[in-house]
Amino acid sequence: MTSMQSARDVFVDGLRNAHAMEKQALSIMEPQVKRLEHYPEVSAMLERHIRETEGQITRLDEILSGLAEEASALKDLSLSFTGTMAAVTHSMASDEILKNSMANYAFENFEIAAYTALIAAAEQAGASSAIPLLEQNLREERAMAALIEDGLPETVRRYIALSATEQRADI
Ligand code: MG
Ligand code: FE
Repeated sequence: MTSMQSARDVFVDGLRNAHAMEKQALSIMEPQVKRLEHYPEVSAMLERHIRETEGQITRLDEILSGLAEEASALKDLSLSFTGTMAAVTHSMASDEILKNSMANYAFENFEIAAYTALIAAAEQAGASSAIPLLEQNLREERAMAALIEDGLPETVRRYIALSATEQRADI
């Protein structure tokens, strides 16, 4: 198959993928916040990032409408479903907090890669006004990845301590 996609097409497709990725992020984080009982710092961190993610989606919508384009409802729906299934699968594990923490860290790093790629596509497409907005999203993903990484050892210690008691350790 020959590919005759313009830089603009690649950029718009990347924006739609990022929009769906952020919907997926919400569908992964929201069920975790509802279930967590013994990890208030993790819960608060996720709550803050849910608010940030809503802002990221607004920025992506802004960029798309500036290009007279819109998000893809089909992509949004299918990735939201995938995110929900990931959260449900982890809720069936006896070490739910650990599986989710590792998956959240992997997801943030995927987002870092997505925005790094999207910024390069924006440059190629000459969409210079989009770049500061994408850089803001990228900064927030980097900050969240660092918070998850820094908090992981303490989460493991608390999980082990709770596991030695009659309390539930995994949420
Ligand atoms: Mg995000
Ligand atoms: Fe994120």
